[in-house]
Amino acid sequence: MKVLCILYDDPKEGMPKNSPLKNLPKLDKYPDGMTMPSPKGRDFIPGQLLGCVSGELGLRKFLEENGHEFIVTNSKDGEGCEADKHIVDADIVISQPFFPYYLTRQRIKIAKNLKMAITAGIGSDHVDLQAAIENNIDVVEVTFCNSRSVAEHIVMMILSMIRDYHNQHRIVNEGGWNIADAVKRSYDVEGMHIGTVAAGRIGLDALRKMKPFDVHLHYFDRHRLPKNVEKDLNLTFHESVESLVEICDVVTINCPLHPETENLFDEKLISKMKKGAYIVNTARGKICNREAVVEALKSGQLSGYAGDVWFPQPAPNDHIWRTMPNHGMTPHTSGTSLSAQARYADGVREILECFFEGSPIRNEYLIVQNGKLAGMGAHSYSKGSSTSGFEEAANYKK
Ligand code: NAD
Repeated sequence: MKVLCILYDDPKEGMPKNSPLKNLPKLDKYPDGMTMPSPKGRDFIPGQLLGCVSGELGLRKFLEENGHEFIVTNSKDGEGCEADKHIVDADIVISQPFFPYYLTRQRIKIAKNLKMAITAGIGSDHVDLQAAIENNIDVVEVTFCNSRSVAEHIVMMILSMIRDYHNQHRIVNEGGWNIADAVKRSYDVEGMHIGTVAAGRIGLDALRKMKPFDVHLHYFDRHRLPKNVEKDLNLTFHESVESLVEICDVVTINCPLHPETENLFDEKLISKMKKGAYIVNTARGKICNREAVVEALKSGQLSGYAGDVWFPQPAPNDHIWRTMPNHGMTPHTSGTSLSAQARYADGVREILECFFEGSPIRNEYLIVQNGKLAGMGAHSYSKGSSTSGFEEAANYKK
């Protein structure tokens, strides 16, 4: 079979010779009891850089020894890109949300042999799920592999925005010592109202991680959490997103991108937020309206916006979120720490092993199967497509 894999660029200075840490901590299972990805074999050392082209997700030996063709490329955007040349006869495509190959309806149409799209990570909105459903292409992701990595990033971003870390760090780098400038936007998080839109694996973990800061915790989700979890965390459940945003000082967004959540944080919803609130969005860029966020930061309706997700990706060099005031953006990195890479590389191999053997892929990994939403897809997504506008990714210049 032909496996097409789209990965992000290697480091500018080439692949690192050594890792900063000798070993990664060994984790036995996820907090809900789900087992870690469990492939039969592994051809990398956990902690190695795997998500870039030369890292190859540690898959080449396994695939070639089993007689498969393995194409790895970072050329994914614009007419004539490498990925488009290979999609026409690929059987399986692997892509990471950090550097997504937008598997649009047009691409699905020309991919005559395509059977499965694997997301090396979580969040399969870069695939036109409606087109996958209609063309009987299975879509799978490595559920839980980086959920807790993202929750750590969320906590980092909440603290760094509320305390105004970026500004203080910049002052030091510039050789300064103006304490008043450094603290004129700096607060304690203690006592604040923190709310998550969606309390799935990431949202719930972010709530758990924020609890020791003695804050008031809120959530909105289309599925209510068990009573004992609400009680343990002293959670306030909101029936609507409006009710949550009216009260919260910090709103963190943790739902998947699908037609119900696309453009959810538009000018109207942002205007209903508490004046001067902060948003942390590590879910997907398209859940927030690009222009509305910038306007709200300029007017002071929002005091800060941070996150690691943009639309499209890579974000064009002139994307207005790169230069808006009081932002704490990173590139899409929260779910691709070296720790997370080891888990999702294992997970992709587990999925491939199951696929080649004809044994079932874990239900938790399924998004679309046999022409309908399945597994986590049925729980967390709705039908439809959210890939429109992807072409702009070709405007990014290295
Ligand atoms: P999950 O499936 O465990 O949780 C998703 C939650 O969203 C579920 O509880 C679901 O009920 C809720 N939800 C779905 N639609 C909703 C709606 N319309 N309104 C309210 N709630 C809704 O997934 P997860 O592991 O928590 O990941 C969530 C999302 O985070 C992913 O789909 C992905 O987009 C994003 N993510 C980002 C990164 C990153 O690196 N930044 C990494 C992993 C995941």
